[in-house]
Amino acid sequence: MWNVPLFELNFDDQESDAVQQVIDSRWLTMGDRIQSFESQFSSLIGNSVYATAVSSCTAALHMALLALDIKPGDEVIIPALTFVADINAVVMTGATPVPADSEALSDWNVSCRSIQDRITSKTKAVIVVHFAGYPCEMEAISILCKEHHIALIEDVAHGPGILYRGQQCGSFGQVGCFSFFTNKNLSIGEGGMFVTGDPELHQKALYLRSHGMTALTLDRHKGRAVSYDVIQPGLNYRMDEIRAAIGQVQLQKLSTANARRGVLVSHYIHCLSACDGVTIPFLDYIGQQGSQPAYHIFPVLLAPEYHRPTVIEGLKHEGIQTSIHYPSFRDFSAYRTYGFAATPVADQISRQVLTLPLFPGMTFEQVELVTNTLKSIIQNMEHNHATSA
Ligand SMILES: *Cc1c(COP(=O)(O)O)cnc(C)c1O
Repeated sequence: MWNVPLFELNFDDQESDAVQQVIDSRWLTMGDRIQSFESQFSSLIGNSVYATAVSSCTAALHMALLALDIKPGDEVIIPALTFVADINAVVMTGATPVPADSEALSDWNVSCRSIQDRITSKTKAVIVVHFAGYPCEMEAISILCKEHHIALIEDVAHGPGILYRGQQCGSFGQVGCFSFFTNKNLSIGEGGMFVTGDPELHQKALYLRSHGMTALTLDRHKGRAVSYDVIQPGLNYRMDEIRAAIGQVQLQKLSTANARRGVLVSHYIHCLSACDGVTIPFLDYIGQQGSQPAYHIFPVLLAPEYHRPTVIEGLKHEGIQTSIHYPSFRDFSAYRTYGFAATPVADQISRQVLTLPLFPGMTFEQVELVTNTLKSIIQNMEHNHATSA
């Protein structure tokens, strides 16, 4: 249907074989594959971190807030520019979400200064998002949170594989939450990972993931446990073996896939360099010492005079799929009445952002089709503007 879809899976026979092996093994959930996927993932993020595979990043975010004892009356600072999962997870705990603004139109990550401005005596946690796979200012943000005794949660749904000064994102805060949703850098379908360096939070995550139970089904199957106790209330946020098997294959492909995304982003930047009316964010991050983006998506900012729905329609007409990362919370029915403090930079980005296709299997020709089409749409709009003026 699309000449250039927004995203395409980088699956081959390896994923199919891995799934078939699980089916043949007759063991579908919480088995050896979960354990090896977790240990492989934790070695990617850091030497001394614990990784807990869960059903989604949203589950990991919810677990992080519960494990940190976030409750009604507490405030949690989140980026104004992010997916709705962050605000939803906070609201589901009964705590109050407090959106902080983006740094600048050239750096869409949440601003440390804006976080600082929002801190009150009720602030219990900060959630940061490494937007589009570019790392936040983790040094300043970590120091700020430590000074105020506030927990730091990293939403690394736009990773994994993001380096900030040589260190993997997801290992800076108390908890790192990863997504393996279909269109993320590591695709499973539905899935996520809860990562922490704190053994107590790790233990809490295990309880929250599986009904607060002391023994797993596998332990009972292998004769290691006959019964179980329930230590605390918990949920069922487990991942299954089929997904863990796909995850292991995808994890092996991750660094090559992220590098390929980087090459495609460089080509995008080259092709759009002479295009007035389109601003590319995060240019300062590329090639920065010790920093390694994961290049999750390729969002650009359209100049305000270009009517975004017309641009989207024009690209669609050529078979090019686009998206918007992200609409503002303020415009959602559930959050319209919350009366958040002003976040002018994030709001402007929400109004003018356009996300262009990006996936490891994309070709340079597809990048050029996208950029040439975008340029000609903009030129036509300028021409129409000039002739009607
Ligand atoms: C995709 C995404 C999530 C949610 O991930 P799921 O695994 O689908 O729950 C959360 N935060 C951000 C920034 C995301 O992009």
